[in-house]
Amino acid sequence: MPFNRLTPTIGTVNSPLSHEPADETTGAGAGTSVRPTAAGGAGGAGHVYDVLVVGGGPSGSSCAYWLAEAGWDVALVEKKVFPRVKTCGDGLTPRSVRQIADMGMEGALAGAHRFTSLRTHAFGKVLDLPWPEHPTFPSYGYVITRHDLDALVNERAVKAGATVWQGTEALEPILEEPSTVPQDHRLGSPALPSCVGAVVKDKATGETRPVRARYVVVADGANSRFGRALGTERNRSQPMGMALRGYYNSPGHDQPFIESHLDIRDDEGKVVPGYGWIFPLGDGRVNVGVGLLSTDQRWKGVNTSTLMDHFVGWAPKEWELSPSTCLGPPTGGKLPMGLAVGPRVGATTLVVGDAAGSINPFNGEGIAYGFETGRIAAASLGEALSGGGAEALLRYETRLEDAYGLYYRVARAFIRIISRPELMKLCVGTGMYSESLMSWILRIMANLLRPDETGPAEAAYRALALIARLAPERV
Ligand SMILES: Cc1cc2nc3c(=O)[nH]c(=O)nc-3n(C[C@H](O)[C@H](O)[C@H](O)COP(=O)(O)OP(=O)(O)OC[C@H]3O[C@@H](n4cnc5c(N)ncnc54)[C@H](O)[C@@H]3O)c2cc1C
Repeated sequence: MPFNRLTPTIGTVNSPLSHEPADETTGAGAGTSVRPTAAGGAGGAGHVYDVLVVGGGPSGSSCAYWLAEAGWDVALVEKKVFPRVKTCGDGLTPRSVRQIADMGMEGALAGAHRFTSLRTHAFGKVLDLPWPEHPTFPSYGYVITRHDLDALVNERAVKAGATVWQGTEALEPILEEPSTVPQDHRLGSPALPSCVGAVVKDKATGETRPVRARYVVVADGANSRFGRALGTERNRSQPMGMALRGYYNSPGHDQPFIESHLDIRDDEGKVVPGYGWIFPLGDGRVNVGVGLLSTDQRWKGVNTSTLMDHFVGWAPKEWELSPSTCLGPPTGGKLPMGLAVGPRVGATTLVVGDAAGSINPFNGEGIAYGFETGRIAAASLGEALSGGGAEALLRYETRLEDAYGLYYRVARAFIRIISRPELMKLCVGTGMYSESLMSWILRIMANLLRPDETGPAEAAYRALALIARLAPERV
């Protein structure tokens, strides 16, 4: 597979009223459709939505947006009420900005802090790397709290026509009776069971009720209790990230770059596989955090709170990070990555975003992949709703493989390398001597290679795969 799949083709969503042929590049299916008439009328007790989305983070709201935009009858349940706080580094890379622009809402980011470069520290060296020029992605990103971002994207889905119930939790899936599952819904194993809705609870009133739909999208984040109830699980042989972040008042709050530290250390001063970050918010604050890859037992024992304390104490003094500028205790979360969670498809069900483990293992970025997988799911659902049925839904998996398969395999090889401190020092330490090499590494890590860089990227993949083979994981 060519490496230019680093720029995934993301589907257009078949509209219920459209008779347009399939778009070949996206694989969005052919076929015409007529929106089914909902029994019981819109929103009524007997109403059957085209799609129910569980979770209103980036992946769920983008999926709902693209479906509603195409005219499908989509409902979304979110257990919290927007705006709500969400633990995150708040960094939007050019990939995220592209998705936000495609949803017609980049203007809404006007008040957010824009950055144009990445300052990288490692092994006593500092490099300032501008975000690359790219035909598909902008050369800048934003830092915006998830409190603000998630509310904006969810509101966009509502404006496009999605029905959203906030403060409403999906308690358990409604499964199709095995005896009534149509032939084309019997996908065999491994596949998720046919889910046709959820029992939801209004958290303000305590009232529970069923919400029924022809298709269900699981977008409930890293812990994914709804997904687990359907049978998803994380492949534990693959890496997983843990990250912690806190806010500080800082004179550097409006710097035009985001900062990463590639040589964070544990209690004993040993370099660990992960990185520290300082992301300026432009409002007097910076978001400060550490992320750690738990690739093997050695790193599972590392305490991220201690790691964070070390990082804060050790960060460049000009940021003025200290207990007196700290705005509250840090909070953390898991980063399921590399599409390590599955199954992701059933005859009526798709899993997106963190619930599918879609975070980029190279850099821990998950917002863009939430937006993208939500959109890719919407394309497959549009096709299924247009008459493609369960077969069309299966193409979601193919699209994910096309978009991320090889890239995430390279990432896993890379992680095996940086989990060995001596190899990590060799790779990163060497890279820090060459700005052009490091900016090329940045392009790979942020998944921003240009299509014309196919050659070097494939060479890098082969080199990484070779090093990974020569340095197998320790038993
Ligand atoms: C400390 C930390 C820092 C990070 N920094 C960055 C960063 O700087 N940039 C970046 O791109 N990524 C970052 N990430 C990753 C990023 O936060 C996730 O990848 C992203 O939030 C995934 O979006 P999602 O929509 O799949 O899941 P989520 O954002 O987790 O959204 C899931 C939603 O589902 C709701 N929900 C859950 N269960 C139910 C239910 N049963 N019923 C109804 N609603 C439900 C939740 O309330 C939530 O709103 C970071 C993660 C962590 C932990």
